[in-house]
Amino acid sequence: MSFASLGLIDPLVRTLGTLGYQAPTPVQAQAIPAVLAGRDVLAAAQTGTGKTAGFALPILQNLTMQAQQVAPNSVRALVLVPTRELAEQVHRSFAAYGAGLPLRTHVAYGGVSINPQMMKLRKGLDLLVATPGRLLDLYSQNAVKFDQLQTLVLDEADRMLDLGFSRELNAVFAALPARRQTLLFSATFSDQIRALAATLLADPVSIEV
Ligand code: AMP
Repeated sequence: MSFASLGLIDPLVRTLGTLGYQAPTPVQAQAIPAVLAGRDVLAAAQTGTGKTAGFALPILQNLTMQAQQVAPNSVRALVLVPTRELAEQVHRSFAAYGAGLPLRTHVAYGGVSINPQMMKLRKGLDLLVATPGRLLDLYSQNAVKFDQLQTLVLDEADRMLDLGFSRELNAVFAALPARRQTLLFSATFSDQIRALAATLLADPVSIEV
């Protein structure tokens, strides 16, 4: 199977070639067509399965194909992750896969000054990768708006709950448009994760690898 046969556009396929990715991993083979089609996704996937590219590639493509002016402080896609290290890593993946695409992306997490993050958001972003606490701070200060949000990703959702982010997550979810695409990735499936999935996802494609 090839990346092109999953429906990815040439610029992404070429970039994957330069990165040395020869074929999609199982999670990518399932997630990419579903996300391109606009479906919600519930995926059981550990680190090392290629899950990041599984959501990053189709999101980059959807953002590019549905090109849209971003209003000040607005974000079109939001990826929530548990830690700053993962935020940096996921954002680096988006930057690498999206090299050459006309998209504005940024990353925001706590423990560093909020001002540069606010400056970046001022012009609006196609994609923001963030940790829940800092995202809520930015939202409370009107630095980020969700009216243009079309896609939400929860990456390592189980770790976000384990780290005690449910209050922040619920506050963010309450601010999001009801009509949106939601992707939930988790290594484990507790009752709490299942309940979260039931409230956030509509008719999801289930992926297990
Ligand atoms: P992840 O599970 O998203 O943390 O990715 C694990 C590692 O696999 C990362 O270093 C990726 O760069 C790499 N990777 C992801 N997809 C592929 C692929 N299709 N072919 C080769 N390497 C990949």
